[in-house]
Amino acid sequence: MTRRRTAIVIGGGIAGQVAAVALRRAGIESTVHEAHDRHADGVGAFLGLGLNGIDALRTVGLDAPVLARSIATPRMVLLDGRGRVLADVPNGGTLPDGTHAITIRRPDLYAALREEAGRRGLPTAVGRRLTGIGHTARGVRAEFADGSSAEADVLVGADGIRSTTRRLLDPRAPDAAYVGFLNTGGYARGVDVPGPAGVNHLCFGRRAFFGWIKAPDGEVWWFANPPVPREPDPEELATVPAPLWRARLLDLFADDRSPAVDLVRATEEVFPGWITYDLPSVPTWHDGRAVLIGDAAHAVSPSAGQGAAMAIEDAVVLAMCLRDHDDVPAALARYEQLRRDRVERVRAQGRRNGAGKTVGPLGRAVRDLALPIVMRRLFRNGRDPLRWVWDHHIDWDTPVTADAPAAVIR
Ligand SMILES: Cc1cc2nc3c(=O)[nH]c(=O)nc-3n(C[C@H](O)[C@H](O)[C@H](O)COP(=O)(O)OP(=O)(O)OC[C@H]3O[C@@H](n4cnc5c(N)ncnc54)[C@H](O)[C@@H]3O)c2cc1C
Repeated sequence: MTRRRTAIVIGGGIAGQVAAVALRRAGIESTVHEAHDRHADGVGAFLGLGLNGIDALRTVGLDAPVLARSIATPRMVLLDGRGRVLADVPNGGTLPDGTHAITIRRPDLYAALREEAGRRGLPTAVGRRLTGIGHTARGVRAEFADGSSAEADVLVGADGIRSTTRRLLDPRAPDAAYVGFLNTGGYARGVDVPGPAGVNHLCFGRRAFFGWIKAPDGEVWWFANPPVPREPDPEELATVPAPLWRARLLDLFADDRSPAVDLVRATEEVFPGWITYDLPSVPTWHDGRAVLIGDAAHAVSPSAGQGAAMAIEDAVVLAMCLRDHDDVPAALARYEQLRRDRVERVRAQGRRNGAGKTVGPLGRAVRDLALPIVMRRLFRNGRDPLRWVWDHHIDWDTPVTADAPAAVIR
């Protein structure tokens, strides 16, 4: 009888939990090792999960618990600071059963994945910070800060944008790069914003970018991207008191015709701002029996709205490659071959989306004039220029052989 293969998954975030479930489905047993002794649910903000992310979750039966905690988000409206609608477009169509893209609080997404993995007998070992990777006669060994270690056939580095795995695979690997704006947000009650629930409103304000979505219960979820040309010192930023954040936002949005000021005022707790990064192209994704997935390999700017979805797709495709290749290094090479072009393209898209948030007065005037025309042309006759992102379908049952694609456009 052949021995069941094993994996060590580093990081219990989105990529790590989905990887554990997908590897189990591929016949590989794994343990997730998470650095924090509480779960890393991230800041309380929310994120958008495109149809491609939901479709990838569905391949391993993880979509239902996530959808249950989310807001269906079928449309997207772009506005300028004068309240003028620049574009009103579908947010990526639907899956064959009518499912739309969603918006979900980050802690809810993390908890849904973690609970479902736990229910399937895949618990996370917490307080296990990876510090070293070594090779054994037949596999790979992970060393942790608490002095413990673990061995397996393959190590999956799902340890996020500040990945230790990345640094251990290649000490010269790039680090996260600042994208020119901060992020903050909150949840407001008692403000009657116009329009139905589930519409993602994105407003290019005169001085800062503002987004909001109404939940079915009337609560309004919002975020803001104050532009700051030079990367702030994170420790200094952490000392900015909450009332100052509120005051700064009220000032930034005072001249805009949007609900921003009312929403900021009606928010009990405005999130202290955090710095926004993406990751320049990472040359080494795998070495021997260790591999990177999710933000560890290719963090994309939040402006792409695709970081979580890319992490989920990676996890599923990696599991398929390990399922279909007995030789681990060959499986990891195949995984990179199937994923790199797509994530590089999404990363570039995120950079482009983000650039529109930080332009000066002249750039703003040009953008606000050009955008409605460009959007009308791009979405002409029901076309969607981002179909290559949303309609990417991973077919779990198709073997990932050398000449077969892992995914098709639906
Ligand atoms: C404010 C914000 C808004 C965002 N908005 C969107 C959006 O709208 N849409 C979208 O798709 N994406 C969005 N993203 C991006 C998305 O959250 C990430 O792309 C996604 O979380 C990546 O998942 P991951 O599992 O790779 O990394 P993470 O979720 O960061 O998980 C990494 C895990 O590894 C653990 N870890 C780190 N180092 C070690 C170590 N040495 N040993 C063991 N464990 C370790 C960490 O504690 C963490 O639990 C946003 C991100 C932020 C910050």
